[in-house]
Amino acid sequence: MKLCVIEGDGIGREVVPAAVRVLRQVIPDLEFVSAEAGWDRFQLTGEALPEETVARAKDAGAVLFGACSSPSYQVEGYASPIVSLRKRMETFANLRPTRFLPVPTAREGVNLVVVRENTEDLYVGDEQTADAGDTGTATKRITRRATERIAHTAFRLARNEKRRLVTIVHKGNVLPQTDGLFRRVAYEVASAYRDIETDELLVDTAAYWMVKEPARFDVVLTPNLYGDILSDMAAAWGGGLGLAPALNIGAEVAIAEPIHGSAPDIAGQGIANPTAVILSAAMLVRHHWNLPEIADRIDAAVNAALSKGDYTADILGANGMSTDQFADVICEQLG
Ligand code: ATP
Repeated sequence: MKLCVIEGDGIGREVVPAAVRVLRQVIPDLEFVSAEAGWDRFQLTGEALPEETVARAKDAGAVLFGACSSPSYQVEGYASPIVSLRKRMETFANLRPTRFLPVPTAREGVNLVVVRENTEDLYVGDEQTADAGDTGTATKRITRRATERIAHTAFRLARNEKRRLVTIVHKGNVLPQTDGLFRRVAYEVASAYRDIETDELLVDTAAYWMVKEPARFDVVLTPNLYGDILSDMAAAWGGGLGLAPALNIGAEVAIAEPIHGSAPDIAGQGIANPTAVILSAAMLVRHHWNLPEIADRIDAAVNAALSKGDYTADILGANGMSTDQFADVICEQLG
């Protein structure tokens, strides 16, 4: 088994080594290959995602990705390397679970997973400007093929994890040709999974219920952009972005990547919470390498550490542990 490790930018460089330590401990014969990508890399070389990195990622088939910074203004020649890598590896689904963790910032009873379509919607990146820059237009693409694929992923996951309900989230009343298609195809797929309940919410209503009653949700099946936003909202109930894992999956490939970004406000201080990336690594172990016992061990070590009150600064404030101290605790727990 081989893992391509891309630390990326900002806190990615601090939290990824913690997850690598954990993986080394639980899978001693795992082979690691490192590769570069990100905004820092772009500024040095003019390339955000070098071909060599894509080749190493594809060869390994499994990637652990930290985070990358993307400027909020257009930079000639720059495109988000993680969005590009997801496309190049054809990871069509992004699984973003939120479950209660024993920290004061989390909400009891929450245990949901957002299954986010990962290849289309507004993220196809087809934007144009007209009127000398005063009008911007973006393409929102939804296809039957991609929707069938993501819907099957959501229902299979529901079955495998013994979940009861899949909620289709869309805005089909305003966007009948795109979100309406997503809704229709999702219901067609649902008919093959009669053991799982299906319902639907418009995305604005879903946002309301996500804040008011997150335990209402089980599996959320949704296009790319809504999935991105709703999973960040859900992460607040899981205790915060520092604890929120994610896994991109494709046919025989996977990219573990926490949902947080490069957190420039705290980067370089050694205080970032590595839990999100450690739990993302556990998802890779569970879903990609199919080693549930090892994934359970990692999850249990994180739970045990948090139950003892071992918190980083995002949870405890100034007296919180450093990234490395927290990683030490997890490795001790793993024995
Ligand atoms: P980017 O531009 O790379 O997306 P960002 O700061 O806009 O960076 P995030 O990196 O997701 O977005 O950070 C949002 C907030 O959450 C920041 O205040 C950041 O410090 C905090 N945060 C994110 N991840 C962590 C973490 N692992 N540990 C502690 N705090 C975190």
